[in-house]
Amino acid sequence: MALTDTIFALASGHGKAGVAVVRLSGPLAKGTFETFTKIKSPEPRRALYGRIVDPITGEAIDDGLFLYFKSPASFTGEDVVEFQIHGGPSVTSGLISALGKREGLRLAEPGEFTRRAFENGKMDLTAAEGLADLINAETAAQRKQAQRQMSGELGQLYDNWREKLKRVLAHKEAAIDFPEEDLPEEIEVALMEKVSSLREEIESHLADNRKGERLRDGIRLAILGAPNVGKSSLLNKLAQREAAIVSDIAGTTRDIIEVHLDLAGYPVTISDTAGLRSGAGLIEQEGIKRAVHAAEEADLKLVVFDGSIWPQGSEEGWKLVDENSLVVINKCDLSEPILDKVCGQKPHYISAKDDTGLDALLAELGEQVSLRWQVQETPWITRERHREALKECQDHLQRFALSKESELGAEDLRLATRCLGKITGVVDVEELLDVIFRDFCIGK
Ligand code: GDP
Repeated sequence: MALTDTIFALASGHGKAGVAVVRLSGPLAKGTFETFTKIKSPEPRRALYGRIVDPITGEAIDDGLFLYFKSPASFTGEDVVEFQIHGGPSVTSGLISALGKREGLRLAEPGEFTRRAFENGKMDLTAAEGLADLINAETAAQRKQAQRQMSGELGQLYDNWREKLKRVLAHKEAAIDFPEEDLPEEIEVALMEKVSSLREEIESHLADNRKGERLRDGIRLAILGAPNVGKSSLLNKLAQREAAIVSDIAGTTRDIIEVHLDLAGYPVTISDTAGLRSGAGLIEQEGIKRAVHAAEEADLKLVVFDGSIWPQGSEEGWKLVDENSLVVINKCDLSEPILDKVCGQKPHYISAKDDTGLDALLAELGEQVSLRWQVQETPWITRERHREALKECQDHLQRFALSKESELGAEDLRLATRCLGKITGVVDVEELLDVIFRDFCIGK
């Protein structure tokens, strides 16, 4: 697939809309625009109005507004034209099929516009991934994280680290090339210190509890407790729909039911789990196993108890209460709030039946999530790809610190530098690009 092809695609969403945008990028973009609109030598970055006519049939396709961006000052770095036309399926398909008949033009692959932007040095790989995240963002917190990454914050962090390593490497290589000129002791010590403080920085960046990844995929909140305490009823209330089966037969929820919510701007996946109890049948036991696993994986837990029979059946729940859980005592329509503390925590008294206490519980949940996902100065890792490369970088740095031979040490430094370069896309990424840009939609 040659980068010199001129590509086009519908850049706005499919379906009927007031306005649709068809984008064209590549060396033939301007000429095609001139042929289709009869507007000669369009002024870059100025809105132009005109009629689009199919040059083969002479048929008018639509009237619209057009923007021309001259290379390299465009999204892709190439000549780009954007046609803003009426968003009717026949209008957009009319223009797309007329463009498709032009020699040298072809429909863009998914993510191809962004890939060109990357290949032309308009953005690094992390920024391109940030753009994909922005398009997929469903909540405010996801949007903010994506915008930070798109603005290059994560890329800059890795670039700075890479620059530091490159400077150390330059010294090491000089020492190898000119063995007769010994590196002064204090410089040697300073270099080793630089590497060790960078290792610490990377280590603490890695120890982020996968917060950035969770923000992309959804923060996990598990509802746990004994059977019949009202877990499914609570989930349904939180989801505001009948997602889980509510019944007074113990052990009804055997698999995990998930609901996605926007909680105070954060994406939260709430899962209802099988009630924890001993003496359950085989299928239920499997459900319990999954519930225990969900509890371990959860970022936050709602441990639910039945206030009407308290403390009967509460032992299983007590074991789950820790600093990442909220204690919920349900069925307060049938009982009085008697306890100030359960396992050291102030319980939330609610009734999933008549909604008592649900607003306060939601507010507390929102607060706990925002507290834990408060924006930090250093951006979080957002992809497994970054994490893997950073771990690999750490392995090389560790080997460098231990190595006695300067040649081998320098090679480890070089490899560590490469790992960081792979994240931002300055080295060695050709084989990765197809995978990364495939996640985009067509037109982006
Ligand atoms: P789970 O097994 O923990 O998921 O519990 P369910 O949500 O299936 O509820 C078990 C039973 O308790 C059902 O009959 C519900 O209607 C009832 N229930 C749930 N929440 C409340 C509540 O707040 N008050 C009352 N009185 N009953 C409730």
